[in-house]
Amino acid sequence: MHFLTKAKFVLQGGGRRLAAVHCVVGIRALKRVFHSSKCTEHGDQASRGENEVYDVIISGGGMVGTAMACALGFDPNLEGKKILLLEAGNKKTLDKVPEAYSTRVSSISPGSATLLSSVGAWDHILNMRCKPFRRMQVWDACSDAMITFEKDSLEDEMGYIVENDVIIAALTKQVESMPDKVTVQYRSRAVKYIWPQPFQAANAIPWVQVELANGQKLQTKLLIGADGPNSMVRRDTGIPLVKWNYDQSAVVAVLHLSEPTENNVAWQRFLPTGPIAVLPLSDTESSLVWSTSHQHAEELLRLDEESFVDAINSAFWSNENHSELIETAGTMFRSALSILMPSGTSARQLPPSVSGIGAQSRAIFPLGMGHASEYIRHRVALIGDAAHRVHPLAGQGVNLGFGDVACLTRLLSQAAFNGRDLGAMQHLLEYETERQRHNLPMMAAIDLMKRLYSTKMAPIVLLRTLGLQATNAVPPVKEQIMAFASK
Ligand SMILES: Cc1cc2nc3c(=O)[nH]c(=O)nc-3n(C[C@H](O)[C@H](O)[C@H](O)COP(=O)(O)OP(=O)(O)OC[C@H]3O[C@@H](n4cnc5c(N)ncnc54)[C@H](O)[C@@H]3O)c2cc1C
Repeated sequence: MHFLTKAKFVLQGGGRRLAAVHCVVGIRALKRVFHSSKCTEHGDQASRGENEVYDVIISGGGMVGTAMACALGFDPNLEGKKILLLEAGNKKTLDKVPEAYSTRVSSISPGSATLLSSVGAWDHILNMRCKPFRRMQVWDACSDAMITFEKDSLEDEMGYIVENDVIIAALTKQVESMPDKVTVQYRSRAVKYIWPQPFQAANAIPWVQVELANGQKLQTKLLIGADGPNSMVRRDTGIPLVKWNYDQSAVVAVLHLSEPTENNVAWQRFLPTGPIAVLPLSDTESSLVWSTSHQHAEELLRLDEESFVDAINSAFWSNENHSELIETAGTMFRSALSILMPSGTSARQLPPSVSGIGAQSRAIFPLGMGHASEYIRHRVALIGDAAHRVHPLAGQGVNLGFGDVACLTRLLSQAAFNGRDLGAMQHLLEYETERQRHNLPMMAAIDLMKRLYSTKMAPIVLLRTLGLQATNAVPPVKEQIMAFASK
């Protein structure tokens, strides 16, 4: 399916480029007409206080949309541009970090930390709460195969576990620090869009028209859809979505560890029913993301605290899925590898045991994958989960979204520097090509991992056991994986 999608993407790329040439020529011809009509139009509307024309409207103020608003607001080339962020929900600020950790956390890659730092939000995150980790250990419940990732230098972090509320609060603080550059409207749900056509009558409105639930009408030269996995922007533009639901839900909770530890390792074990991950929050607490069948997830939610804790410890420690044949083959292969590549073997560490759960209630999230086959249309771009949704097993969802933000900001900044129309197809096409080249292989790898580890069939278990051990024994391959995942 992924290869089909990718093939379609390559074909689309060719057609799109041709269309882009036509568009650029057409847009240039129409630009003069737009320019002469725009000024009076804007003036009239502004005086009526409605149909205000923005340079950019971002629909959706989740982690990705708010980061986009900050990045555009701080870009010097976009100085003077009118930017509006629309969020259907309430403003999310944190006057004081709550004592109890939230169950919703994200593993943030160094690349995302750089983006958050560039908009001044990272310092707020560090001042609130964030836990760096230096090592990741991933292993199979059906064999002894495991892989570890770690940074050579002690100063380097592999990533950071941050509560989603902390990320949003930090970004909100930053976006609020520049009211002259970015306007934010909370409790403002976009309910209708009217799309301009690339070639339309000279007196037609050339911008995207946005109508809010309160009846307010706005216009924008570029609409950025950051409205999450059920994106209305994506649906309304008619952009096709390749999607499927996984037969899994994720159970999340805050865990108390049996004893204080340095707690700087992210642990994940692949059970036949789905991966269970325990991510560090502090010396004594960790965050659980347990992906399992819908029925099992519901059962886990209903268990009393003691049985729930037992289930977690058993999921990490039990060898009930091991088979003698696979174990023998795996041991022989590992011995051969340790002779051939002595530098490639790394020590297995034991995960911490869990003694209780936090005050916050456990929560459950159905899992699925979705990919918009196009990220752009005339005067429209999709970012974050509106464009792509992935299984949480690799902790990549919001990181891919922050990657979109960094890429689109760079291209819009260049466009503004060169005096180009921000909604023009030329740089939007570059955005789509660059991001799909990064996102598609990552999504394909995540989907393959989910499928490869969802079975107990002996030949597949043997194949993945040998594959994982071989990958673990070749440091340059691991470095490549780390470099790709940390962008
Ligand atoms: C259990 C679990 C664990 C995860 N762990 C990780 C992890 O470790 N690392 C990682 O990188 N990712 C992780 N993810 C993925 C990550 O949470 C998502 O990728 C991320 O939240 C997407 O952010 P977003 O801003 O694109 O979308 P959303 O968070 O869905 O935000 C969309 C926003 O748009 C607003 N909105 C919607 N419609 C409208 C409208 N019509 N008008 C105005 N506003 C609107 C909504 O109110 C919302 O605020 C995990 C996901 C799950 C389920």
